[in-house]
Amino acid sequence: MIQKLIQRVFGRRKAGKGQRAVVIPYKQHGVGREHIAASALKVTDKLQEAGYQAYVVGGAVRDLLLGQLPKDFDIATSATPEQVHALFRRSRIIGRRFKIVHVTFGRDEVIEVTTFRGDSDEGQVVDATGRILHDNVWGNQEQDARRRDFTANALYYNPTTQEVIDYHRGVEDIKARRLVMIGDPALRYREDPVRMLRAVRLSAKLGLIIDAATSQPIATMAALLKNVPAARLFDEMLKLLFSGHSRQCLKQLRDQGLHHGFFPLLDVIMEQPLGERFVQLALDNTDQRIQADKPVSVGFLFASLLWHEVLACWKNREAAGELPIPALFAAMDEVLAVQEEKLAIPRRYSVTMKEIWALQPRFEQRAGKRPFRLLENPRFRAGYDFLHLRAESGEVEMELANWWTRFQVVENAERERMLIKDEAQPAKKRRRRRRKPGAKPGERVGEVD
Ligand code: ATP
Ligand code: MG
Repeated sequence: MIQKLIQRVFGRRKAGKGQRAVVIPYKQHGVGREHIAASALKVTDKLQEAGYQAYVVGGAVRDLLLGQLPKDFDIATSATPEQVHALFRRSRIIGRRFKIVHVTFGRDEVIEVTTFRGDSDEGQVVDATGRILHDNVWGNQEQDARRRDFTANALYYNPTTQEVIDYHRGVEDIKARRLVMIGDPALRYREDPVRMLRAVRLSAKLGLIIDAATSQPIATMAALLKNVPAARLFDEMLKLLFSGHSRQCLKQLRDQGLHHGFFPLLDVIMEQPLGERFVQLALDNTDQRIQADKPVSVGFLFASLLWHEVLACWKNREAAGELPIPALFAAMDEVLAVQEEKLAIPRRYSVTMKEIWALQPRFEQRAGKRPFRLLENPRFRAGYDFLHLRAESGEVEMELANWWTRFQVVENAERERMLIKDEAQPAKKRRRRRRKPGAKPGERVGEVD
């Protein structure tokens, strides 16, 4: 028993050279050609007709074996990117660090085609910490399998024969619902620290247990994530938050000791005593929308995650004597500056975030023409959804959110009747035009508690 355990923890998965493939026939795994997207079949068929090897690989095979619908279909082939590009009119070679080919179908369906990668120690460029910077050495399928991250992700499905090719007992691990790193986990994390985040995301999303040897080095190696370029971390963070299982992902990050210090937005989410309920609601809401296949907005979720930071900063500035609206705008900039320092939130998101935040005080104004103008605002819907979340979390009165729910749908005459006289109407009407919308003096802005 103990020996078995030791063997499981340390002995298995020596990803040495000459790993023998197990070929698993259709009658054992039950994944038929009809489960593969038509576009992916076109790619594998054409490559195979041209004499190359071509397989569906990675997440799609894993998900199908788990009985889940794959998000996308990636293809691995023996053809070089140039050879792939030559076969498909609507294709282009992308990436420098890892060259791959995107083949486009229809309006915007993209199939990613990667060439079998060669051995780790041949021709790679690594940095001082062992992180792989360039890797465009081609190899055979067996070498390619060894370069993949988890055994469950290193399965090759041939749609022509309907066979799964398995070099690392990935099918067995999937059956046992285990996530196991191929090779020496510590070395693989050093090569690419993002694999630690992938372990968390995949296990949370698919309900897999991270194998003991795979999870063991993570807590001590977490600091390596600091060397990963901000844009790549940002992408991975988006995948975590929009996995449809964000609550579970965040819990796993904490359990694995990955929650602190490398990602300022995460620090805010994890250490948010003020807005915990609000953040949880925003995450649950996002998970539900993803699971129901509804669109989600990155700007909206980020605006939610940082809202209580903005609120706290806003209140401090007001307490120090700043006027409410300038204080809100300064607070927004201050909070975003902290995030941008490390994470470079792309501008298109921070613009949306600011718009959503800046609308909030305007929902307090329910007199005169202002509610009508707010309704016309192109960001009204996002602002209203945000207000609703605030009400659900208990930060503002539900009555206010309900008022806006109704105001949107009733006739104009009824809207007029709904208006609520605001005791603190601006004293000097003529000053209105000179200010930006939402930035009117003397109104009851800022009373959002
Ligand atoms: P998802 O469901 O999120 O698409 P996925 O496993 O397909 O999950 P991708 O990012 O699409 O993730 O990667 C496709 C495949 O490429 C993976 O299944 C894995 O085999 C390989 N891969 C991706 N990232 C890495 C990495 N950092 N290190 C090693 N192999 C990787
Ligand atoms: Mg994928």
